[in-house]
Amino acid sequence: MINVVGVDSDPETGLINLLGLTQSKLEALFEALGEKRFRATQVLKWVHQLGVSDFQQMTNISKALREKLADIAEIRAPKVLQQLDSNDGTRKFLIQVGGGNAVETVFIPDGDRGTLCVSSQVGCSLDCSFCATGKQGFNRDLSAAEIIGQVWIAAKSFDQLREGGPRRVTNVVLMGMGEPLLNFDNVVDAMHLMMHDNCYGISKRRVTLSTSGVVPQLDRLGEHTDACLAISLHAPNDELRDQLVPINKKYPIATLLKSAKRYIEGLPDSHRKITIEYTLIDQVNDRPEHAHELAELLRDVPVKINLIPFNPFALSDYKRVTERALRRFQTILIQAGYTATVRTTRGDDIDAACGQLAGVVNDRTRRSQRYGLNAGATVAAEEPVRIMSSAT
Ligand code: SAH
Ligand code: SF4
Repeated sequence: MINVVGVDSDPETGLINLLGLTQSKLEALFEALGEKRFRATQVLKWVHQLGVSDFQQMTNISKALREKLADIAEIRAPKVLQQLDSNDGTRKFLIQVGGGNAVETVFIPDGDRGTLCVSSQVGCSLDCSFCATGKQGFNRDLSAAEIIGQVWIAAKSFDQLREGGPRRVTNVVLMGMGEPLLNFDNVVDAMHLMMHDNCYGISKRRVTLSTSGVVPQLDRLGEHTDACLAISLHAPNDELRDQLVPINKKYPIATLLKSAKRYIEGLPDSHRKITIEYTLIDQVNDRPEHAHELAELLRDVPVKINLIPFNPFALSDYKRVTERALRRFQTILIQAGYTATVRTTRGDDIDAACGQLAGVVNDRTRRSQRYGLNAGATVAAEEPVRIMSSAT
């Protein structure tokens, strides 16, 4: 196994996958090979701007170096098992991540904007009570190549990766499967690639990391990125949040909000706001007193609030908030002076709601068997991969 710049080669292919390497890691790799550092810029542009995965097509690199690269490295995106297109333009990819597992990536168009919802882990260990991913338990972290690979795959599917290609993926949200802060290094590397001018060049205001509140990692985030931050709050007090988001028992609301505030206030451009995500569940956290308590709680925090109607799924007894309760909740927040938007459900016909992504995972903790998750439908694939129907 080759190990250059702290990146192991793939145990199966014996090759280093360049897809997930940041500019500085690629520069270190070229230096280690006795080559000039600017080769990194050339390779980044070939891969992330022009969608090239074959070294032979990299015509501004000498033949000798192309051959050397082909001997030790590869550019390999994860495999797409299925691409589903919704009537409303939403596109969902089911991505193979080995071991019979799959994660999902969803593209949601909205006028000039195209938002890609990206997964960061195979499953999730945090077990929030209303989350389909959490019910599957945790299997493993995605590599940086598998995370940025989701952007590469989506952009390529829209013919974006060529000279003058249409810019369809304009925003990225790390709101797919998994808790991004529990896969810190790989997520940060992938975010660098999303935002880098030699790659996708997505502005820091258009890349958002969503977390349920892993405070120690949130405290480190500002040293590594200046992207936008979303906090999955879902409750206005610790008693209720402890039930919905178990990590709250470790890092309660006050601690979390302080950490989020430090992050946002540490960014060089002021006036940025934290997005507060609040999934509204019928009769659980949707009452007027909850809205009033939330308004009070966030009084000194620079926020905008995104209300997400709970998306029911087979293994959950929770119900979707009623339209009346949703509007009542929103109105209370708006009257208290907040920007409070409601996330509309998109891609209903292909089960593509963000936060409802459910490529089934073989849970290492065996939790999914406990929940009887293994009875899902099977899609045609080299390895059998189970997907769970996430009926909305
Ligand atoms: N782990 C991170 C990011 C992934 S979850 C986090 O929790 O923030 C992305 C968002 O989808 C979160 O706000 C989450 O609470 C929400 N979500 C999860 N399951 C949902 C469901 N069944 N209905 C509506 N929103 C859900
Ligand atoms: Fe994990 Fe986020 Fe789902 Fe909670 S809501 S279980 S943190 S993916």
